[in-house]
Amino acid sequence: MTAPFLDAKNPADIERAAQLLRAGEVVALPTETVYGLAADAFNEAALRRVFEIKSRPFFDPLIVHVADWAMLEKLAQPNARAKKLADAFWPGALTFVLPKKPEVPALVTAGKPTVAVRMPAHPAMRAVLKAAGIPLAAPSANPFGYISPTCAAHVRDSLGERQPHILDAGPCVHGIESTIIDLSDPDAPARILRHGPVTREMIETALGEIVDTSAPKAATEPSPAGLPAPGLLKRHYSPQTPVTLLSRGTPPPPCADNTRQAWVLLKRPRRPLQKPERTDLFFLSENGQMEQIAHNMFAMLRTLDKGGYSTLFVELPPRAGLGEALHDRLRRAAAR
Ligand code: AMP
Ligand code: MG
Repeated sequence: MTAPFLDAKNPADIERAAQLLRAGEVVALPTETVYGLAADAFNEAALRRVFEIKSRPFFDPLIVHVADWAMLEKLAQPNARAKKLADAFWPGALTFVLPKKPEVPALVTAGKPTVAVRMPAHPAMRAVLKAAGIPLAAPSANPFGYISPTCAAHVRDSLGERQPHILDAGPCVHGIESTIIDLSDPDAPARILRHGPVTREMIETALGEIVDTSAPKAATEPSPAGLPAPGLLKRHYSPQTPVTLLSRGTPPPPCADNTRQAWVLLKRPRRPLQKPERTDLFFLSENGQMEQIAHNMFAMLRTLDKGGYSTLFVELPPRAGLGEALHDRLRRAAAR
């Protein structure tokens, strides 16, 4: 049976979500990036349930969400770079990897000596964190390897029988997962493990240093050892329908009306490409703005994944700024 959504606009529902989390339940929560599947970061039974609901392998560590700096200090050992980046981007869509405190369960960190921590900006998420008073481990609220959920219905629709409570706050602003930066070794350059809404350029400006973006080699097989961030699995964030990437500006071929191909383009043309208007063309934005493209990307892939298409052709955005993160997710979505 599907439990009704909790409503983020209702203070009693925020309190209810916090209570459930304190009692060791799992609750799907909205953030400004994607919906997360949250549990008390210090409650092993609750953490296990998160892995179970997602069918997530235990080698894939979780991001822990905090309400404030004091909460971070219960989990991690911050350093000068973390302080600088927190001043610039927290609360926000940037996750730090830092040396962990001994109390943090190995389940959260996949046995690593480091922990990933973020102070999210979403008002509902912040309200729950504050009311619960505990750090919340929360990976994206989707089955492992599938597209991240950017609204409450995505969470409900993809987790099948294993329904968590879900706090509904409408669609996520960014629609793409947080940037992850490894700050654990003060003697090495800071390293981006996953591109996201906070771009390399933004981080370099705030730090006044060059960051390392040499992505650790993509893994084809999950291997506990060689995987600094499992978002780096070669295939991840994937719809079931095969995805083929198009270089920017590739025009879709003239429509053959029995095809089951969908063409996902970055920007709606000013005038329809053909009359009558084609039904196999889908547009990620009205104006080509990267924020809008990111906001719509996962939702579009999900909808089309249910449309019975044989292939989704997706136009690649320019690679600068936020485009780096989009390239990254699309390449993984297209990997076979
Ligand atoms: P998700 O929230 O499901 O998109 O996944 C969280 C991401 O954070 C995964 O790609 C993890 O590998 C990454 N992550 C969590 N903890 C660590 C850590 N200690 N070191 C590196 N990456 C981490
Ligand atoms: Mg995920």
